[in-house]
Amino acid sequence: MTNQRKPMYKCKFATRLLLHTLIGVIVGYGVLHPASVFIFHRATHQSISHIDSLISAFRPDHGWMALYFSFIGALFGLLNGLYLQRTAVLYEKVKKLSLTDELTGLFNRRHFIQSLEREIRRAQRYGNDLALIMIDIDHFKKYNDAFGHLAGDRLLRSFAQHLARTARGTDVVGRYGGEEFVILMPDTGIEMAAHLAERIRQDIQDHLFETHGNPKSFKITVSIGCAQLPEVEGQSQADDLIKLADDCLYHAKSNGRNRICC
Ligand code: GH3
Ligand code: MG
Ligand code: MG
Repeated sequence: MTNQRKPMYKCKFATRLLLHTLIGVIVGYGVLHPASVFIFHRATHQSISHIDSLISAFRPDHGWMALYFSFIGALFGLLNGLYLQRTAVLYEKVKKLSLTDELTGLFNRRHFIQSLEREIRRAQRYGNDLALIMIDIDHFKKYNDAFGHLAGDRLLRSFAQHLARTARGTDVVGRYGGEEFVILMPDTGIEMAAHLAERIRQDIQDHLFETHGNPKSFKITVSIGCAQLPEVEGQSQADDLIKLADDCLYHAKSNGRNRICC
């Protein structure tokens, strides 16, 4: 995942509270206070016109009442602001959960496919290249068997972070499933994608990943399949591109692993 923007709700917290408190004060002073004076005049049958009754609310002799209603308004405004802030925080959390993979923090498969479909439309409209690479960790089952599933999870997390750091700023990195990862490369042709895939493969091969109780001590390798946007029309372009990369990955595996195939 590449987008590391500060959430909107954090920037707006103080502004939101201030605005709601201010609205509360205005409603308390400008609406509730004159309304209460008006109701009082009607209830006590005072012979005063409606307009005069409302205007009299703003005279200095009603100062304490005005202050009281402004305070009540500010309090409700503040509570409303806090409630809306909490709703905004929860909304951001739910949104993040719906986009990201829980274990690795990368984009999940659903969101990745949505990004892929959007990028395909963009590439076709502007005539740009689009490449996709699919990465699968070699013999990951053996790692799980040797160190346990929790250590396997830790490795996947650290692998994903490493991948996200290695990818370029414009690439979209996602977890496709299990120990399979995908990188979408906008404005990238197949030669460039192959070059980047080879760089990733070598980088992973040279990197020492943490293992349970024995930090920085385990090497893993990956097999990678690369594909470019297929030159076919229709709705299934995203599926076609994924299938192409998957087929190449299958070839890389059957040709001995720790290699790329385009
Ligand atoms: P290959 O080189 O052919 O890819 O072999 P492999 O062992 O990597 O592939 P295989 O498909 O046989 O096994 C994938 C393993 O990945 C098995 C499964 O337990 C493990 N796995 C998938 N998802 C997770 C996960 O979220 N956490 C952990 N710890 N393991 C996972
Ligand atoms: Mg696999
Ligand atoms: Mg594997």
